[in-house]
Amino acid sequence: MDKNELKEKIKALKDELDVTIVAHYYQKDDVFEMADFSGDSLQLAQMAKDDENPYLIFCGVGFMGESVKILSPEKRVIMPKIACCAMARMIDGAHYDTSVKLLNEAGIKNEDILPITYINSSAEVKARVGKMGGMVCTSSNAKKIIEKGLESGKKILFVPDQCLGQNIAHMMGLKSCVIGDGSDPKEADIICYNGFCSVHQLFEVEDIEFYRNKYPGIKIVSHPECQPEICQQSDFVGSTSQIIKYIKELDPEQKVAVATEFNMVNRLRDKNTYILSSTKPECPTMNETTLQDLYDTLLSIKEDRIVSEIFVDEDTVKWARIALERMFEI
Ligand code: SF4
Repeated sequence: MDKNELKEKIKALKDELDVTIVAHYYQKDDVFEMADFSGDSLQLAQMAKDDENPYLIFCGVGFMGESVKILSPEKRVIMPKIACCAMARMIDGAHYDTSVKLLNEAGIKNEDILPITYINSSAEVKARVGKMGGMVCTSSNAKKIIEKGLESGKKILFVPDQCLGQNIAHMMGLKSCVIGDGSDPKEADIICYNGFCSVHQLFEVEDIEFYRNKYPGIKIVSHPECQPEICQQSDFVGSTSQIIKYIKELDPEQKVAVATEFNMVNRLRDKNTYILSSTKPECPTMNETTLQDLYDTLLSIKEDRIVSEIFVDEDTVKWARIALERMFEI
C-alpha cells in the first residue's frame, strides 16, 4: 500500500472505532499528520486524561504511554511501537536504589534527600521517587519543581538527566554535581544521576560559533537536555513547547539555529530556521513508528487482537501517580 492509501485506510478505521490518536512532536511527519492531538510528553498525558474515548493510541516512546496509563488507568493505552527512550533506559529501580545508597555512603541520609525525576523515566523509577516523598518534573517546569523541592531544606537527587539538572542549577545559581564525578555530593544542592539524551548530546559549541560567524545576529535556541556549555551560550533555552512559542513570536526574517530534535524543528517554519548540528539529530526510537504500524494497530483494535498494550501494576501506578500529582499540584 502506498502512503496515501494507508492514510485513507487509517482515517476510515479511526472514524469507525472509539479511538484517539496522539503523537509526540518528535514523530515523523506522516504519523504526526494522523494525530488528533500532538504535543510534548506532559501536554499529551494531560490531553489523554481528559479525552473520553476508551482506546488511546500513543505514538511516542514507552515512558510516555506509561504516564498516560498511570494518570488514566481505566483507559486502554496502545502503542504502535513500544519504543524506548535511551535516556529513560539509563536508570531502572536497581540503579535508583544504588544511587541512594551511594549518597548514604557519602554521609547523606534518606531523610535529607528529596528525589525529583524527569518525566523521561520509567513508571518503576517514578514510583520509587513517589515513595521517597519526591516528584516528577518536565523540562518546562523543572525550575519551579526544584525551587519547591529546595524549600524542604533537603538535597535534591535529580534523575536521570544530568544536563537538565546541571542547567537548572546553573540558572538558579546553585551548586550541582554528577554522581561518580569525583566531587563530594555533600557540597552540592542538586545531585544529578549520570543519564543523558543521546540526541541532544550531538550539539557542540563549535556549531554555535559556526552559525554566529556565518549569520551575525542569528538567535541560538536550545533544549535543556543539551550540554551545559550549549545552553549557557544560547539566546534562549526552553522545553519543546517553549521553543515553539519563542520561534513563532520571532520576526519571520530573524534567523534562528535550534538545538533539539530534527522532526520538530523541521516543522517550525519554512525559512530562516537551521538545525544547530551537521549531524541530523533525529530521535531514532521516536522514528520507529510508521504509518503501517499505526494502521496495524487500528486493525488489531477492530479485530479484538490488540498487541503492544501498556500495563502497569497497581502498586507502581499508586506511587508513580503520587509523584506525578505532586507535580500537577505545584
Ligand atoms: Fe529520549 Fe532523547 Fe529521544 Fe527524547 S530525544 S525520547 S530524551 S532519546
